Amino acid sequence: MSKRSKVIHLLGAKCAKCGYCEDIGCLDFHHVYNDGGLERQKFFVSTIYQMIIDIYDLNLINFIEVVNKRYHILCVMCHRKETQRYSKLPRKEKAEIEAKAYNYMYFLGEMYKQVQEIKISTPFGITI
Ligand SMILES: [Zn+2]
Repeated sequence: MSKRSKVIHLLGAKCAKCGYCEDIGCLDFHHVYNDGGLERQKFFVSTIYQMIIDIYDLNLINFIEVVNKRYHILCVMCHRKETQRYSKLPRKEKAEIEAKAYNYMYFLGEMYKQVQEIKISTPFGITI
């Protein structure tokens, strides 16, 4: 199973809005804070996938909560609608969301570091 499929399954493998779940290829990751572009500038997509897999493997409850708030699974239709809704927001509102995105990137970096430290301190697949 690809990392992408694994992460989609960890996040429920169905659209958070309409419940669609037939074809995993028609499911997308929706960045709730609209910072997908910024995230891809700072991190490889595979790094984020691996971090999410590690968070679930290590059962890091607090980080699982963060992941579930940050990323929603949406079908392509609902994802498109959500993207259009965002594009129609007033400029001021968009600017506020974009300003927050930089804080989220900092937080994501810190979360990544912590997950790596926990991984190193729990060798041989022993979960804590
Ligand atoms: Zn949907």
